[in-house]
Order: sequence, then structure tokens, then C-alpha cells
Amino acid sequence: MKRLRGVSIHSGIFIGNARLWIRKIDQFKPVKIGLDGAEQEVQALQAALNRIELALNENLDSGGLSETEKDILSTHLLILRDPELEKDLLHTIESELYSAPSAVSRVFTRVCRQFSDMQNDYFAARVGDYQDVAQQILDVLSGVVTAAEPEWDPGQVAVLEEVSPSQVSVLAKAGVRAYISQSGSTNSHASILSRALGLISIVSIGGLLETVGPGVQLIVDAVSGEVIVDPGLQDIRGYQNRISLAEQARRIGDVENQLPPITADGTLIKLYANIELPQELDFILQQNPDGIGLFRTEFLYLERRDLPSEDEQTNIYSNILQRLAPRPVTIRTFDLGGDKLAHLMPDATEENPYLGKRGIRFSLAEPEIFRTQLRALLRASVFGTMQIMFPMIIDESDFCKAKALVKDVMAELDREGISYAKDLKMGAMIEIPSAALCASGLARACDFLSIGTNDLVQYTLATDRNNESVAGYYIQNHPAVLRLIQMTVEAAREACIPLSVCGEMASGEDYAPLLISLGIRALSVNPHQLLSIRKLIRSLVT
Ligand code: PEP
Ligand code: MG
Repeated sequence: MKRLRGVSIHSGIFIGNARLWIRKIDQFKPVKIGLDGAEQEVQALQAALNRIELALNENLDSGGLSETEKDILSTHLLILRDPELEKDLLHTIESELYSAPSAVSRVFTRVCRQFSDMQNDYFAARVGDYQDVAQQILDVLSGVVTAAEPEWDPGQVAVLEEVSPSQVSVLAKAGVRAYISQSGSTNSHASILSRALGLISIVSIGGLLETVGPGVQLIVDAVSGEVIVDPGLQDIRGYQNRISLAEQARRIGDVENQLPPITADGTLIKLYANIELPQELDFILQQNPDGIGLFRTEFLYLERRDLPSEDEQTNIYSNILQRLAPRPVTIRTFDLGGDKLAHLMPDATEENPYLGKRGIRFSLAEPEIFRTQLRALLRASVFGTMQIMFPMIIDESDFCKAKALVKDVMAELDREGISYAKDLKMGAMIEIPSAALCASGLARACDFLSIGTNDLVQYTLATDRNNESVAGYYIQNHPAVLRLIQMTVEAAREACIPLSVCGEMASGEDYAPLLISLGIRALSVNPHQLLSIRKLIRSLVT
């Protein structure tokens, strides 16, 4: 028996036998060709690209796909037809004289390495998509038909090097309940899809492939992020018990999601969900939130090298609004800067990015980007109940500058005869101490406020939220932080405007009761915490 640890992607427990599924594009044997063979290889490559493009488009048009699956297929289409990649592939065949499969292996391996080396979670998370597309091209070039993968037995646990979105999809369709992988990250498309499809999964398990052989029995404990290899009888019995208890709890959970978040003594707490990507919507809707309390729109840039157009953004925002309607959706304008998506701002190297051109400062300094987003938001606003929220506001005048820009864009749309929700509400995040200290003025200027405790704690205690070595100073319930929350509660109450907390404290079972005791009546939480916070609220007395 051996125990391995990793990062849990979708919680649950499963007992089954290992089946290895290793696809390694970087282990493709390089094959050189002669000058006269290049044209034939280029033709083979073009034929493969065309065939995959056709198959992806047919799949997209076939109907019956979830939004998540559609998004992933569209991403694969973009990668497949990326002109830069295509140029590299042709160069590798025509000038470096490699066979088409070798060129695919070399070019995609290089891109994947570059992404992994960037030490940027967002790009690291995209590696799986690139590997997936590369594998599809290699499969076609070598005559392998993906559908011909041997049948999976639902009792098996897939063991992978790194899982790709299409592998997740294959596993889910085959009825496989769990997979484990040696590498991987929380925000990859494959992980997002695993959560959406409910696949019990653990990634980033060091030493997995050296330890687990085909057919060996495994207990996948994605509650604690542990894999037990070749378990003893006692462990198996203990986990079987936990599985049947969890099944009972799940049946109760489906019913509990429908119960209102009212405390035991009758206080109604609004319970909203935070969302980063539209792919999360299916799961979020199952959890029955009162709306979206925070849509972190900057995550739309996740797998992109460019900024999404006005039309693209309008479609995304409209879709979310329609699916949630009539429930409110609070959309936060881009919080770019800090550690977020620096790849889009290559010339913006700053000594202290967290104290630099981040959030609303970035948007105000880049009016073209901001106006494009505002136009998209306003155009989408007629599809449901939208609220616009600005990040990193320091005080009332900061908020008024952002609001003035919205008004200006509204006037522009009026001139163009484009409709938008005239009664749209605008609010500010309270995530900088000065905003909390100036909360009275802000509350008078805003339609609503939302406290971002993640940054409020960081800026109040001068403690980098991402720096493990100072984690001990990142004290979410520090009296100084609580004082600032209390001041904000009082200011919102006086101005009679809604106030919520959308930072991680709201999702914490240790902190949510504290927030409610401070007078907070709306929490916006990580979707996977909705049920437990709902249950917690129902057990509290205010
Ligand atoms: C926060 O700071 O609490 C917040 C919700 O914003 P983000 O985590 O996106 O910075
Ligand atoms: Mg923040």
C-alpha cells in the first residue's frame, strides 16, 4: 500500500482499478525527410487540419452539447487555425525538413514548454488544450481514429500524465467516474470541464506514473486529495462506508439546494455565486443561487493573446444574463494588472504591480479597452438584470470618474439608437482600506457596494495574498479588517444601499458567521461552497 497526494479538482471518493492512458506528443520520434518529400508532407498536414476542422465544426453543429463543451471545441478550432502555429509548422517541414508528424510534435511541444515555463497559472492551464489539438492532428496523420479508443469500463480509474479536455469528455461519455493525473492545474479547461461533468479527480500527483501500474486497485479520495495505491481491506471497508454516506448526503443536497438561505431565527441572507468563466454556469445554476455577485471578467482573457471584441463580449454577457434572469448578475469590469494576465500588457513592467496600474486605474488609463467593455456590457444589459461594479476604487471621486465614462458611453449608444437598461445599477468594490474609510461618501454615490476581502486583507495588513512565506500575516479576521468591514456596513445601512461580501471570506465556513454577525446580509461565494454556506446560514441564529 502507498499513499500519494495531489490537488483535488472535483471532490468525491471512488474505488476502482487503474487504467493508464498516456499520450505524449513530446515523445514522438523525429523523422527527417528529403527536400523532395516536403510538398507531400505539407499536403498531408493540410489535409489533417482540414479534416479536424470539419469534424470540430460538425461536432459544434450537432446540437446537444453543453455550453462548456461548445466553448472548448471553439478554443480547439482557434488553436488549430492559429496562423502563427501554422506558419511554424510549415517552416519546420519546408525549411528544417521534418515529417509532418515530427513537425507537429516539435512545434506543439515547444509551445507547451513556453507556456509551462511562463510560471503563469493562466497559461500553464492552457497546455492541455494545445496537447489535445496536437494529439488530434497526430492521430489523423497516423490514421488513428479517436473513436477507436478501446472501451472503458466504468469501474476503472483513468491514470494520466496530464489530462486534456477531450480526454475528460471521452471519459465522462464512457461512464468513467474518476481520473488522476501526474500534472495539471486547477484552472485548466480540463479541470473546469471535470467539475462541470462531475468527474472525481485529483491532479498534480508527484511520482504517480512511477508508482501506479495497470490494473492496480486505487482509492481516489478527492475529498482530501489523496490516492491510496493497492489499499488494505480495512481502508477499502472504511471508504465504502464513506461512499454510501456521501450518496445519502448528495440526495439530501439536491433538496437542500432548493431551501432558502434563511437563518434559524428568520433572517434572510442573499446567497450569490462568484463566476470566472461562462463554462461554470451549468454547475452554478444547479446550486440555485440568488444571482451572480461577482463575475471576474478579466478571466475572459484566459487563453487569449488578444482582447475580446465588443461583439464577443456582448454575446458572453448576454448569455449569462439570459440564463440567470430575472436574478441579478453583478459584472465587475476588468481587474487587469497586479498578477492578472500580465501577458496582455508586455510594456507594463512595474516595481509594485499590486500598487500600480491595476483594476479601475488600468481601465481609466486605457479608455479604448474600457469603452469597448462598457459598450458590450450596456448592449447586453437588456437581456436580464445587470449591475456594473468597478474594482480597486479608492474613494468617491474615483468611482465618479468610472461612472462618468459609463454615462458617456450611454450617450454614445443613445446617438446610435442602441438600447440598454436605463436603470442599470453601478457600484464599487471595497477592497482598499481607503475605500472602507471613505465608505460613507462612496455609499452616497453608489447604488451598491461589495467588499472584496481578498485584497482588503492584503492591503490592510500589507501582506501579499500570493506569497506563501508571509501567509501567517494574512489574517482574514484581523481586528483591523473587521473594523473596516464594520465601517462599510454602517455606511451602507445609513445610505440604504445593498452591501455584499464577495471575497473568499464569504465562502469560508469559519468566517461567514462572523460576517453575518457584523451585519452582512449578502454573501457571494465560490460555487462549490454554495451548498455548505446555505446549510450553515440555515443553522445560524443572528
Ligand atoms: C477580492 O479582492 O476580495 C475580490 C473578490 O477580488 P479578486 O479576488 O478578484 O481580487
Ligand atoms: Mg480584489
